[in-house]
Amino acid sequence: CSASLHSTETLPRKDEISVHGVSEKIVGVLGGGQLGRMLCQAASKLSIKIAILDPLVNCPASSLAYYHMVGDFDDSNTVQEFAMRCEVLTVEIEHVDVATLEILEEQGIDCQPRASTIRIIQDKYLQKVHFSQHGIPLPEFTQIEDLEGAKKAGDIFGYPLMIKSKRFAYDGRGNAVAKSVEELSSAIFALGGFERGLYVEKWAPFVKELSVVIARGRDNSMACYPVVQTIHKENICHIVKAPASVSWEIKKLATDVAFKAVSSLEGAGIFAVELFLTEDGQILLNEVAPRPHNSGHHTIESCKTSQYEQHLRAVLGLPLGDPSMITPAAIMYNILGEDEGEPGFYLAHQLMQRALSISGAFVHWYNKSEMRKQRKMGHITIVGRSMSVVENLLSFTLDEASEKPA
Ligand code: ATP
Ligand code: MG
Ligand code: MG
Repeated sequence: CSASLHSTETLPRKDEISVHGVSEKIVGVLGGGQLGRMLCQAASKLSIKIAILDPLVNCPASSLAYYHMVGDFDDSNTVQEFAMRCEVLTVEIEHVDVATLEILEEQGIDCQPRASTIRIIQDKYLQKVHFSQHGIPLPEFTQIEDLEGAKKAGDIFGYPLMIKSKRFAYDGRGNAVAKSVEELSSAIFALGGFERGLYVEKWAPFVKELSVVIARGRDNSMACYPVVQTIHKENICHIVKAPASVSWEIKKLATDVAFKAVSSLEGAGIFAVELFLTEDGQILLNEVAPRPHNSGHHTIESCKTSQYEQHLRAVLGLPLGDPSMITPAAIMYNILGEDEGEPGFYLAHQLMQRALSISGAFVHWYNKSEMRKQRKMGHITIVGRSMSVVENLLSFTLDEASEKPA
């Protein structure tokens, strides 16, 4: 009996003992997309209760959440009402009503990460200003207010020039590239003009894109996942390779930059730091996501603690788990909509059928009711004994190889 090991002085008082699982708190998540869904899956294992706020009745997290409030996470009254029903508030998307989060924090509501972090991250220009003030290496950038300003920036930074929306960007939907001065106005038009707020970035001549996922606990403990390589297609994350095939020095540099970036932000949770590796071995920061991230999907099957469980542990003040890999290699492939409607569903179905026959492949389907081109519909993670093995298995799954690899 363990009681005999304690003197009565060291035993916790009865009212301090929680005998009902790891946490009784309801975690409120703003957003109920695939990240929210995978948070719910991780929560289920520990019987942690997750409430989600999402406008879509049948959003990916809806059927798995303890409670789904149907409403807009960008509407102040709705967010306030939702917050009253939760003990800790977190996000799976950064495009939420941050002014309300700030008010809620003043009223004592527990937001993790802090509203200040969401405010910095949700405006990419503000984010760039913040990180440059903290000495973090980034591509040069400047805001633009009119075509003259864009031309001036083009003269200074050269072409191709990356033009970005300051806000509401995801999956590259706020990005446009001007290959020359002649293309500036069409690129700006494609982003909806100057009204929504634009800025430009110098083209980063990267040889690889890397990502570092870091968890910070409420006690400021940190846990860092292995550096991964992300491969984008048309600005959308397509493939993630874990671990990244780069030198030890590059891994160290990438991790150091990511640590510095995360240390400049407040609050607990997962932070994903997207990085560019240049030919001359420099690491530049692209952006930070203050939440679980596409580059960390693989952790569900490849790491001792998934990024989703880790996020819950972090925001609830539980001990952080070990982020190290339990397999030598993992590859993650995003199932993107290849066609609209039924034909798109059919193609995705075929792909998943092939994946289901592969040993070491794990299929995730987000159950989105609408199929659209380039929409993230699911993902496949393959784990194995080396990167070449998992790459071959992925090629086979994608039907690019004629024979099933050994
Ligand atoms: P997400 O949030 O889904 O990661 P996003 O819409 O916020 O994407 P970014 O991360 O800014 O978009 O950019 C998407 C991709 O575009 C990058 O991963 C990279 O491939 C490319 N990219 C972004 N900025 C630059 C740059 N300055 N130079 C070259 N390529 C860039
Ligand atoms: Mg982004
Ligand atoms: Mg990005």
